[in-house]
Amino acid sequence: MENHNNFIEEIIIEDQAMGKHDGRVQTRFPPEPNGFLHLGHSKSICLNFGLAERFEGKTNLRFDDTNPVTEDTIYVDSIKEDIAWLGYTWDKELYASDYFDQLYEYAVNLIQSGNAYVDDSTSEEIAQMKGTPTVPGVDSPYKSRTPAENLQLFEEMRAGKWPEGSKVLRANVDMKSPNMLLRDPIIYRIKFAHHHRTGDKWCIYPLYDFAHGYSDSIEHITHSICTLEFENHRPLYDWFLETLDVFRSRQIEFARLNLNYTVMSKRKLLQLVNEGLVSGWDDPRMPTISGARRRGYPAASIRNFAKHIGIAKRENVIELSLLEFFVREELNKIATRVMAVLDPIKVIITNYPNQEEWLEAENNPEDSEAGTRMIPFSSTLFIEREDFMEDAPKKYFRLTLGQKVRLKHAYIIQCDNVVKNEAGEIVELHCTYFPESKSGQDTSGIEVKSTIHWVSANHAIDAQCRLYDRLFTAEDPDGNKEVDFKTYINPESLTVLESIKIEPSLQNAQVGQGYQFLRKGYFCLDKDSTGVSLIFNRTVTLKDTWAKLKSQ
Ligand code: ATP
Ligand code: MG
Repeated sequence: MENHNNFIEEIIIEDQAMGKHDGRVQTRFPPEPNGFLHLGHSKSICLNFGLAERFEGKTNLRFDDTNPVTEDTIYVDSIKEDIAWLGYTWDKELYASDYFDQLYEYAVNLIQSGNAYVDDSTSEEIAQMKGTPTVPGVDSPYKSRTPAENLQLFEEMRAGKWPEGSKVLRANVDMKSPNMLLRDPIIYRIKFAHHHRTGDKWCIYPLYDFAHGYSDSIEHITHSICTLEFENHRPLYDWFLETLDVFRSRQIEFARLNLNYTVMSKRKLLQLVNEGLVSGWDDPRMPTISGARRRGYPAASIRNFAKHIGIAKRENVIELSLLEFFVREELNKIATRVMAVLDPIKVIITNYPNQEEWLEAENNPEDSEAGTRMIPFSSTLFIEREDFMEDAPKKYFRLTLGQKVRLKHAYIIQCDNVVKNEAGEIVELHCTYFPESKSGQDTSGIEVKSTIHWVSANHAIDAQCRLYDRLFTAEDPDGNKEVDFKTYINPESLTVLESIKIEPSLQNAQVGQGYQFLRKGYFCLDKDSTGVSLIFNRTVTLKDTWAKLKSQ
């Protein structure tokens, strides 16, 4: 395989060659615990943990929990579960909120050295004085406060003496900088909010740029990897670390993952959950890691996908069907092949003399170790309604009057006549079988053009089946700012089949294991199943039907 380094690997190799940080590589994955992780995050996880693996470094899991209003411990737990499921182990589990004391000290240091000041302006005034990208900002009248005065006010802010919105702490950088982010950014604001970890200890909270850079520095992160929209934050990131002369982490930006037919922002996904448009964060249609897991995507398929798309410095959109390709590729290797009839029609084998017999069936032709299982055959079967046609065209090779097909793992049958109800619908097929045509020991000499799947009616188990389609009908549901992305929800994204017929071995199906329902796709048991009612999710079809539709 070609071994081509990506640009971040090149940077690390260069840093190591120069002996920077003694060649140490320390990365971090810094989610804000305000939602479940989505597939975009998986790209960042695979990147950060992958780099540490490759360069024998470590990756911290740091919860970026500096905004008390939106954060919650249920998100913390789900994030940990998802990363572990993806197959990665973090070095330390850390919380930016654990650094609140240290961050406060840094803010005091900035004040003492004249690099931060307390501003009493309203947010409107601050916005007004900020200027525009082409018009320089103007200094706040409070910028000239002395360090002693600032220090006292900041301590009072912390002590709860000032109401929300009455004062902020700002970095004293440059109101005329062409980079708007350097125009004296706010680094602390007053917020009387309960924090999921620190409780009511604080009523001032640090802002992202300030907290993030210093958290990286405190953890001695060598390479702080983030998405492209932070590129113009880098000068500010560097300013914070340089100004206090603390450990210098290096920020490196890469292009985020965008998938078509999907939205990938926790804020938007939260709307889908809150408005009941999906059953929850782990609805199998959601582009979340927990949704993908529940849908039956193997963790390896997500890792392989991330590796395949690589990393770039320019934004692009990846086709959802590419991810599905990796899902199929992985499931093809590991999924047990079974038979299930989604739209059953009854077949009576009129000349079958036995009560039942058990036939050997291969579990996975792709895996020589997967072994075989026994499946029951009897005189009453179900086949797929679409596998029979009364007035069939010439090229229809499945079952039709007088035409023979093979039943997978069993015998060749021929249809002799059909039984209809009063409405004229076919309710039963009467067939004969050929005893010498048994799979594996066929001496009948009969040739058939197709093989169909089936289950024995008396042995089959009823199950519910959930078929999924893309959640959005538009390639870029978020693309038109005039139109709410929820307008594009696909009303047919979920189809429930209440009573499919599955072979009895599936009674022991396990959540988390993949099955191929022969000719029907890859499926997995849903966690909503109970001992008496089984529910299967279709993970993905066997072929990419969307690619076919598009090319027509
Ligand atoms: P969202 O907008 O969905 O809330 P976020 O970037 O605010 O995403 P965080 O929890 O702050 O979410 O992100 C944790 C890490 O995951 C960050 O380093 C971020 O850059 C990265 N990340 C988020 N979305 C993507 C994406 N689509 N592709 C790659 N990395 C991403
Ligand atoms: Mg965020």
